Amino acid sequence: MNSDFAVLLNCMDGRTQLPAINWIRDNFRVKYVDIISEPGIDKVICGEDENFINSLKYKMDISINSHGASMAFIVGHYDCAANKVDKITHIEQIKKSVCIIKKLYNNIEVIGLWINENFEVEKI
Ligand SMILES: [Zn+2]
Repeated sequence: MNSDFAVLLNCMDGRTQLPAINWIRDNFRVKYVDIISEPGIDKVICGEDENFINSLKYKMDISINSHGASMAFIVGHYDCAANKVDKITHIEQIKKSVCIIKKLYNNIEVIGLWINENFEVEKI
């Protein structure tokens, strides 16, 4: 599917918004980045709480079905107040989150991102 949209599953942390959006726009043919934010979203997705997943699906369906987004990005970041684990644990959680979202949506590309201590984006 050809679309100008992607969907970003990010922490609420204000330091992570522009780095993630700009990186996605710089690296893919994407104009608009839909935002779904939750404190420490890498940890929250891994929890697979039914209510959270249902709410997430409602939002992602709008991006995918109405906006035609064909890519989703999942972010974990340095110094996350809602998910105070080390980098290794963050990376594991991001990878697991990517698997969970891929199972829900097998028709889109799902990419994990780490935002480091300089608030630069690293693709996982
Ligand atoms: Zn955070």
